[in-house]
Amino acid sequence: MPNPSNGSPEAFELDHVSKRYDGVMAVDEVSLNFPAGSTTALIGSSGSGKSTLLRLLLGLEWPDQGQVKVDGRPLENGRVLELRRRVGYVIQDGGLFPHLTALGNLALLPHHLGWSRERIRERAEELAALTHLPQGVLQRYPAELSGGQRQRVALMRGLMLNPDALLLDEPLGALDPIVRHELQDELKHIFEQLGKTVIVVTHDIAEAAWFADRIVLMRHGKVVQDGRLEDLRRHPAEPFVTQFVEAQRTLRESSP
Ligand code: ADP
Ligand code: MG
Repeated sequence: MPNPSNGSPEAFELDHVSKRYDGVMAVDEVSLNFPAGSTTALIGSSGSGKSTLLRLLLGLEWPDQGQVKVDGRPLENGRVLELRRRVGYVIQDGGLFPHLTALGNLALLPHHLGWSRERIRERAEELAALTHLPQGVLQRYPAELSGGQRQRVALMRGLMLNPDALLLDEPLGALDPIVRHELQDELKHIFEQLGKTVIVVTHDIAEAAWFADRIVLMRHGKVVQDGRLEDLRRHPAEPFVTQFVEAQRTLRESSP
């Protein structure tokens, strides 16, 4: 999301951002920049602050300290609605409304913005092709979809308004390995095709490296290392990095 008015190439910036919940530092003095058009994988164990960090970028949470900037401008309450339209957000279980069909879910925000039925249907069909969602699935309810189909619809919903950025919070976390593998391929292809700013949260280092050259590893709310998988392997910032990387064994290593 380049902003010509101030020349900032950064889509998102966190400047010494902290967020605390009841004594827990969910995000602890984090400073990070996400250049427009870049893809970044955010990894870390459960509870390390990944989801909170995304929510801070979306204005779903507000920092106790520090500043969040979007397109080079401080994020303020008055900008949040505009932001929702320009940033697609996809969560682990998809977050689809169960009482609406897939198309009904996709139509919700565009309809609110005054899009015609025709325009909504056209956009939905375009995205169904992009995400390889089979014909006919758009008329079904979320409970009638497979896990992979639900995540495809959730991704489509995030893309309906053609946002500048896509924030994905463990989008494949709930899927079985085969569907997950297939969707990893497709997502990577989609990221490359669309050229948007992407931040994808995962706790799987192989998935992180598959999606992005840049990996940001978090622990206890802090950024432990920010670099390529090779940097994490060869120049770990602290022993935890090696521990984290090695904790995810390959099949060959773990078989007898
Ligand atoms: P991750 O996504 O890496 O698993 P989270 O950002 O969800 O981590 O959580 C970071 C820490 O903040 C955890 O200790 C979690 O329990 C706490 N936390 C997150 N959201 C809330 C909340 N709404 N209320 C209280 N504690 C929270
Ligand atoms: Mg999380």
